[in-house]
Amino acid sequence: AHSTTAALAVEDVTVRFSGLTALDGVSFTVEPGSVHAVIGPNGAGKSTCFNVLSGVYRATSGRVRLGDTELTGLPPHSIAGLGVARTFQNLALPPHATVADSLLLGRHRLTRSGFVATGLRLPSAAREERRHRNRVREIAAFIGLDKELERPAGSLPYGQQKLVELGRALCMEPKVLLLDEPIAGMTAVERHRTAAVVADVRDSLGISIVLVEHDMGVVMRLADAVTVLDFGRRIAGGTPAEVQNDPAVVQAYLGA
Ligand code: ADP
Ligand code: MG
Repeated sequence: AHSTTAALAVEDVTVRFSGLTALDGVSFTVEPGSVHAVIGPNGAGKSTCFNVLSGVYRATSGRVRLGDTELTGLPPHSIAGLGVARTFQNLALPPHATVADSLLLGRHRLTRSGFVATGLRLPSAAREERRHRNRVREIAAFIGLDKELERPAGSLPYGQQKLVELGRALCMEPKVLLLDEPIAGMTAVERHRTAAVVADVRDSLGISIVLVEHDMGVVMRLADAVTVLDFGRRIAGGTPAEVQNDPAVVQAYLGA
């Protein structure tokens, strides 16, 4: 047997805002190719955790590593460039862009030729543009929206717009994907479809996923491991079945 490096390691992370400790010595690891859910009552520190992982907040102390790469203290664009993509709880799509162009935005960090070559219409830039558009079509097919590429993303049903955001994150070719309540606000059909796409991201693309989600049914079906936060502390962790039966977890949810 050999030990594998975690896809993502959160080590003893504390985040303090003047007087308030939003995260208090939290540690967990995300195994490669797994879905790791972070759950907990309102105010538990889930969004703060995502903001530290994506570089929006700086940890007061502790470390975050992506494989063997130290992420601690890096700015959001560097962390994204190293392979951590995220979606937001609320939609953040440009209102009039087509699905294709919304997905192309996710390719932006992968563009090597840059503005000069594109402006001069160098052959290398045209080749790169074709490569990006091909990949956008593949990702659109993956999320089931390849028939909608030329439609304004904003004209799609809400659940499909959320899938476009997921697709845009996938276009960054991430190693780790952070999903903040990916099925919130969706219809039952949309929830089912999105959960299947998320499982497929793990199973077919091998991308590790950190998931913040309130729908416990989906968490229990989708997650390989769960970390439970309450008042900024990690109060439990393990498989879905383990945390579901943990008295501290039951207490945290009933007491909230
Ligand atoms: P969750 O996402 O689990 O509901 P949050 O991470 O949003 O919880 O919040 C955890 C705690 O940190 C809350 O008490 C919240 O008010 C506080 N908090 C979050 N962000 C900030 C901030 N930028 N400034 C001050 N307090 C914050
Ligand atoms: Mg939150």
